[in-house]
Amino acid sequence: MYCGQVRREHVGQTIILKGWVRHRRDHGGLIFIDLIDREGLCQVVLNLETMDREHFEQAHALRDEYVLAIEGVVRPRPEGTVNPNLPTGEIEVATTRWEVLNPSEITPFKLDEHQKVSEEIRLRYRYLDLRRPEMQRNLMVRSNFCRVVRNYMYDRGFIETETPMLTRSTPEGARDFLVPSRLHKGTFYALPQSPQLFKQLLMVSGHDRYFQIVKCFRDEDLRANRQPEFTQIDIEMSFITPEDIYELIEGLLVRVYKELKGIDVPTPMPRMSYDDAMLKYGKDAPDLRYGMEIADLTEAFKAGSEFKVFNAVIEKGGVIRGFAIPGAGGKFSNTQLKPEGELNQAAQKMGARGIAWFRVKGGASAEGAGLESNIAKFFKPEVLSAVRSKTGAKEGDLIIIVADVELVAADVLGRLREKLAADLNLIDKDKLAFTWVVDFPLVEWNPKEKRWDSKHHPFTAPRYEDVHLLESDIGKVKAQAYDIVLNGQEIGGGSIRIHRRDIQERVFHAIGISQEEAERKFRFLLEGLSFGAPPHGGIAMGVDRMMMILLGEESIRGVIAFPKTQNGACLLTDSPAQVDAAQLEELGIKIVAEEEK
Ligand code: ASP
Repeated sequence: MYCGQVRREHVGQTIILKGWVRHRRDHGGLIFIDLIDREGLCQVVLNLETMDREHFEQAHALRDEYVLAIEGVVRPRPEGTVNPNLPTGEIEVATTRWEVLNPSEITPFKLDEHQKVSEEIRLRYRYLDLRRPEMQRNLMVRSNFCRVVRNYMYDRGFIETETPMLTRSTPEGARDFLVPSRLHKGTFYALPQSPQLFKQLLMVSGHDRYFQIVKCFRDEDLRANRQPEFTQIDIEMSFITPEDIYELIEGLLVRVYKELKGIDVPTPMPRMSYDDAMLKYGKDAPDLRYGMEIADLTEAFKAGSEFKVFNAVIEKGGVIRGFAIPGAGGKFSNTQLKPEGELNQAAQKMGARGIAWFRVKGGASAEGAGLESNIAKFFKPEVLSAVRSKTGAKEGDLIIIVADVELVAADVLGRLREKLAADLNLIDKDKLAFTWVVDFPLVEWNPKEKRWDSKHHPFTAPRYEDVHLLESDIGKVKAQAYDIVLNGQEIGGGSIRIHRRDIQERVFHAIGISQEEAERKFRFLLEGLSFGAPPHGGIAMGVDRMMMILLGEESIRGVIAFPKTQNGACLLTDSPAQVDAAQLEELGIKIVAEEEK
């Protein structure tokens, strides 16, 4: 029996428990021990009066985290000592015999005081950190999650198939992790950024419905809540439209939330175009738990502004956008709203030159539409009333405005919106706001490299009606791609794929991949497409992010058994690490010291 499973119904039974000493209260002739295992803790009592004295005396040496086996009789706790907060709180075990299975050094942190220790220490001693009930629960929920997902996918006729880890580059927009080959010196495998091309080839093979819960590897720059290796539910299906994917994934999310949280997730889930998401929320993964929609005010200001800053932005083809923060009119003083105040500083750090603001004081019919600001005098009353109505601002709100080139205005307002909603406590933490984002552009301009890059990956199908634009105006081509977003985080994304060799070649060409390079890197795909590839499409869901949201964890490291730090180090195993000279020699690799470079 597990320590955490002893209940009132076991009273009178003699049981054996094995677990760890989490606490020990030594009253001389009476010793209380909290014995803990993965199911929880149980109070174990050692009493001098009912035990052999010598055996009892040795128990004074028991310490925290010793591994202990006990035999004893379950009995109700004496009146007044029942602990209603504990599943085992009604009983205790009167111990007759005990044995230390293994002692423990003093642990580097007390396991119930983990909050007081740095994450570095916790990651270095991860096996101790994982011994804590919260982490045990997280890993258990993660395991249940995978079980629910597998059952659902099997119910829906999917086949779980593994794909190689040692492979060649699968472009998902990140750098590859490379593995040198010993047998073919000077050549490298890449760890998969995703199984993308293999799952497409499984469709060519007639597999029809594939899924896999799989590790993916991306050598990306540091960002919060990213891991160099992460887990996806990877899915591909033949002969489908996006509607089939929406239905499948909505069903999966419904099943997961019902079985793991007892929550009914409503379907169908809303859908929003990429353009709308960028305009109204400043990002392609909008958080819809709260309003504060961004409005485009460019036209409104064009109609009557003597404010030079805005006019200059409009002349240069920029935009003026803003949103209303409910009830925030009184929350920011004029000093806080000044250029050196906190809001402006935050906006500047995000890349804008600053913000303008209006406080909503009077009713919509009041003079100047009730808007007050240091710059209100520059605008005709009609302009102010348009600003008020377009932002949907109400009395007591604060409107903030950014005027800049479109990309900057959208991005900064999107980030301010999220920051202010969080800072001002405007987010309903219990809400689950799912949305599909659809109609993505096929490509995006890479100003650094001066070329078009795929927005998702180069195997994404363009909308059929846009195929003719591939050579003439690729920036206008929309993709048959979709993302599923939960509470402002992309939890999955996918697309209908290109299943014809000629179109794939045209897309490669349009994004600057020469025919020679395409043949060299993607020969297997192009050949596969030419042997009767069925129309197909799929999606990948991010397991770590979904777990994070499901468990309410702040950090992605809280849902992964053995995670890496922000800079890709494993503090438990001290990796990445140097290797022996002999190993390098076998691989034909020479490390060039920094100064030699
Ligand atoms: N392979 C894509 C990714 O990992 C997902 C997909 O298109 O199915 O993001």
